[in-house]
Amino acid sequence: MLMDVVEMLSQTREGWLGRISHRLARGAGVRESFLEQLNQLYDAFQHAVESGDPTWLEPTLNSWVKSLTQSELTDEDSGLVAILNEILILTYQYLEETLAAEKSNVVMNALLPNFTYAIEYTSRQETQARIDHISKELQIAQKTLERLDKSKSDFISVAAHELKTPLTLLDGYTSMLRDLFPKDDEMSQAVLLLKGIDNGTRRLREIVDDMIDVSLIDNNLLALNFQPIWLNQVLEALCEELDTTINNRQLSLDIKEFPGLHEMTFGDPERLYQAFRNLLTNAIKYTPDNGVITVDGKVLPGFIKVKIKDTGIGIDSEDHTRIFQKFGQLGNISLHSSGKTKFKGGGPGLGLPITKGIIEAHGGSIWVESEGYDEEIFPGSTFHVMLPIRKSPPDEKTTALYKSIVETEL
Ligand code: ADP
Repeated sequence: MLMDVVEMLSQTREGWLGRISHRLARGAGVRESFLEQLNQLYDAFQHAVESGDPTWLEPTLNSWVKSLTQSELTDEDSGLVAILNEILILTYQYLEETLAAEKSNVVMNALLPNFTYAIEYTSRQETQARIDHISKELQIAQKTLERLDKSKSDFISVAAHELKTPLTLLDGYTSMLRDLFPKDDEMSQAVLLLKGIDNGTRRLREIVDDMIDVSLIDNNLLALNFQPIWLNQVLEALCEELDTTINNRQLSLDIKEFPGLHEMTFGDPERLYQAFRNLLTNAIKYTPDNGVITVDGKVLPGFIKVKIKDTGIGIDSEDHTRIFQKFGQLGNISLHSSGKTKFKGGGPGLGLPITKGIIEAHGGSIWVESEGYDEEIFPGSTFHVMLPIRKSPPDEKTTALYKSIVETEL
């Protein structure tokens, strides 16, 4: 019986090949190479039927999967499973037409389990090939993104350093010009104009410094100068600096007496001042007049947790991560209005990435909580900062420098 089937398969071979290749392959060139592949498939089917082992089909199917083109791998509808299904239907029709009903049934029954195996096997292999292809594409996209991010970071760093030279020139010439006027001539037109230039260059210098900080953070080059610090001192100094702005905007800044406020910890005072300054100036910028900004906190095991809460416009939950990325300012850039403290006076979008970089360099973390962005009900935002409590600086040299303080704290 088995020999009959094998015999019948040999007899129908030429006709089958002709039918299938004619139906499935268009164009003489395509048909020729397809014929070769069909020949291999037919051989494999014969071996599988003869031995009762469908794994004979695997090498041919593997070579088919391997030869899938890029577009076939990305297009879910075109694939080998569809072709195998068509071959199955055409085979059935062909056998029905050329063999007597009984014989065609016998051959079809012998072929069917092998077709099922071939389709299942190909489906698995094809899916794996698609996954491999997509992962490769993803890796390429990831590399391109990394390269783009690197060139963005390189650009920021080069631009910042290039801008420093003309800034220094501007500073120098303005101060020489100022020296040409008598010291008590505060109100003359020229002196007032010079003040305007001064303000402009100062703001420009701040932006350039921010750009340099961002590129230091991007390249893990932010060096901290650890010293004993007390948060109350940092916050008091900030209150003093921001007092006029807070009054001008009729805001209130309430710093609560929280556990940890007077606790000594090692950190970089200038950098922490900069980080909290960014958070407070943002709270000022994004809170309308008459709003309230509250600083509160608590001590958690190993950490001081500080909370900066405002009654401002709030931030949509989908932007809670984005605002910590460089140039992550929200809204329409073309409507961007620059200003350090005026309501919604956006900056270049570098403040929060720098703040995050500084806090993380200290071993801490920062995140935001807000019910969403709404300029009518003002849901407000709360920025949380976790700052590790360090009783000694991380390096031996600084520990030796602050030996007496470290010993009294231990
Ligand atoms: P910018 O220089 O634009 O202020 P930041 O990096 O400091 O840049 O902040 C990024 C963006 O996050 C801001 O443009 C603003 O949309 C949003 N943001 C930051 N702080 C607040 C806040 N307290 N309330 C509402 N939105 C905020």
